[in-house]
Amino acid sequence: MSFGQPLPVLMYHHVSPKPGLITCSPENFRAQMAWLAKTGWKTLSTAEFEAVLKTGDIPKKSVLVTFDDGYLDNWVYAHPVLQEFGQRATIFLITGWIGDGPCRAHAGQAVVPDVPTHKQAMAAAADGKLDDAFLRWSEVELMRNAGTFDFHSHTHSHTRWDRRIDDQTTRDTALADDLNASRATLAARLGTASPHLCWPQGYFDTAYQRLAKEAGFTHLYTTEPGVVRADVELARLPRLVAKDKPAAWFARRMGIYGRPLLSALYLGLKSGNPGH
Ligand SMILES: [Zn+2]
Repeated sequence: MSFGQPLPVLMYHHVSPKPGLITCSPENFRAQMAWLAKTGWKTLSTAEFEAVLKTGDIPKKSVLVTFDDGYLDNWVYAHPVLQEFGQRATIFLITGWIGDGPCRAHAGQAVVPDVPTHKQAMAAAADGKLDDAFLRWSEVELMRNAGTFDFHSHTHSHTRWDRRIDDQTTRDTALADDLNASRATLAARLGTASPHLCWPQGYFDTAYQRLAKEAGFTHLYTTEPGVVRADVELARLPRLVAKDKPAAWFARRMGIYGRPLLSALYLGLKSGNPGH
């Protein structure tokens, strides 16, 4: 059992007034970020996260806040909150789903665009109406320049190739193409090639890990629950679900996740597998 200083990596999807299973309300998200700011937690950039893991010297009260997919509501509702509290987070973009066009309005500005629920967003994606539910590159660029978000890869197409293609060689080629397209798109749009990849629906196997490494990804994010410690496997980074709960719940959880022994015991109990 590892008792080193933990570094929680939180996982969000939507921040929106329209409730859903993977949606945090703007009020609760604001309360959670306000609590981090008030209590001296530092929300790391991915570069800082990389640096901390390289030295193995994890400072107390460090946290990485991540978002999956790249929804429009991240710009409309999460960006203004991060800006208000001087906090930062990371979005793993489905790079083939991000559109062009001017920045839309975000909360606090004139007319805020309607944001779909998760279910509606998935239907819009299936219909090819990605712009209704997902970010535009102009918004990505603005948030990146504002220092509220870093942007990394959630593949180019969010396809579960393991379900789509049986033949291993053909599947490997499809995944490799998907990963390379995502890296190339991020490099072309943002000027830097990303070493951070988050798996769609958390699925990976050893072939996936090998192909990601070959494509140039060194930090692979999963949906396996747990806290990051200095001895973490970079190809298997655990994350914790941030729920749609007020500051009191968040404070209790962060109080556990931030403590070396308590986090190990708590997460061991939760998984029914002490020691992980
Ligand atoms: Zn996803």
